Amino acid sequence: MSTLELKSVSRFFGAYAAIENFNLTVASGGRTAIVGPSGSGKTTLLRLIAGFEVPDLGTITLDGVTLAGDSTFVPAHRRVIGYVPQDGALFPHLSVAENIGFGLPRGTENRDRRIQELLEMVSLNASMASRWPHELSGGQQQRVALARALAQSPKLMLLDEPFSALDSGLRVSMRKAVSKVLSDAGVTAILVTHDQEEALSFGDQLAVIRQGRLVQAGAPKDLYLRPADEETAAFLGDALVFRAHVSNGWARCALGNVIAGNAALNGHAKILLRPEQLHLSRSTLFPNSADGCYGVVVGSDFGGDKCTVMVQLQAPLSEDELTIPVRVPAMDCPGPGTRVHILVSGTAHSFTADRRALSPS
Ligand code: ADP
Ligand code: MG
Repeated sequence: MSTLELKSVSRFFGAYAAIENFNLTVASGGRTAIVGPSGSGKTTLLRLIAGFEVPDLGTITLDGVTLAGDSTFVPAHRRVIGYVPQDGALFPHLSVAENIGFGLPRGTENRDRRIQELLEMVSLNASMASRWPHELSGGQQQRVALARALAQSPKLMLLDEPFSALDSGLRVSMRKAVSKVLSDAGVTAILVTHDQEEALSFGDQLAVIRQGRLVQAGAPKDLYLRPADEETAAFLGDALVFRAHVSNGWARCALGNVIAGNAALNGHAKILLRPEQLHLSRSTLFPNSADGCYGVVVGSDFGGDKCTVMVQLQAPLSEDELTIPVRVPAMDCPGPGTRVHILVSGTAHSFTADRRALSPS
C-alpha cells in the first residue's frame, strides 16, 4: 500500500504543456479514476508516474520517496509500479504464460506456480497458459496484461483505458472483476478513462483533467452533484443549467422555486440540476400551481428502460419558451401535446456568472 503525491508537475512537448501544474494525492489502497477528453494528457500523466516520461517541473513521490523531481529520477523498472498500457500491448510471439512471466526470474522453482496463481487471480483458466495472444478475446487479452503487471507485486497499478476496446456488457463485468482483483491484492490503483460512467463508478476518488490541468478532484458523488464548472457538469452526465435568482436559500428559475444548495448566495446565478431530479406527471390542472411548473410535451426519444421526453415550459415562469429533457420510465412515456407538471427534488447546485462553482455549496 502506498500514497502517491504529485506536486506542481508539468511536462512540456516543445512549447506545448501536455501536463501543467498538476497536483494530486492518491491515498494508500485507494482507487482513483482520472477522466478527461481525448488529448487532455491522461496517458502522459500515467507515463510520468510510471517513469516513462520525465517531468520538466514538480515532484512525484511514492510513500515519501521521491521518484522524480528535486534532481532525482528513479527509472521505471525500479519503481515497482504496474502499468497496463492503453492497448494491452501483449508480446505477440510469446504464449500467455510467457507474457505473464516476462518479468519473473527464469529457472526458479516458483515461476510456474506464480504464473498459475496470476492466471487464477484474473479468472483465466489454467488451460489458457499455452495459448497465443491472437487466440484470446479482447477481454482475455486485457486480463493477461493485468496479470503480467501484477506479477511484480506492484505497490501501485496504473490502468490506461483498459476497457475501451470491450463491448458494453463485458466492460462492466471486467471493471468489477479488475476492481476486486486490485482490492484483494491491496494494490493502490489509478484508472484513466474518457468514459464518465466508468469514472464515476471505479474509485473512491475522481479527478477531472482538461488541457493538461486538474480541474477538480474529490469523491465521485461530490463531483457529479457539485462540479467545479458547467463544462465539468456536462462532462460527467446530462446537465440542466438554468438562470436563477437566489434569495433566502431558494433559487427561482424556469422550473419554479428550487432549494439552493448554497444558502449563503443571494442574487443572480446559474444553477445545475440533473435530469433524475425532475419528476413529471400528466396534468389536468393547467396552467397554475404553487409548486413546480407546467409544460407541454413536444417530442420524445425512446431509450430502452428510460425514455427522454422533451417538454416545452410554459410562461409565466419561463421567459424564453425553454424546452428541456426529462427522463421517464418508458412505459409511462406521454405523447406529444400532453400537458405535464414538473416537480424538482433535491437541491440545485449554484454557479456564479464566471461559470465557477460557488463553494462551499
Ligand atoms: P490522452 O491520453 O488524454 O488522450 P495524451 O497524454 O496522449 O492524451 O496526449 C496529450 C497531448 O500531448 C496531446 O496533444 C498529444 O498530442 C501530446 N503528446 C503526447 N505525447 C507526445 C510526445 N511524445 N510528443 C509530442 N506531443 C505529445
Ligand atoms: Mg491516452
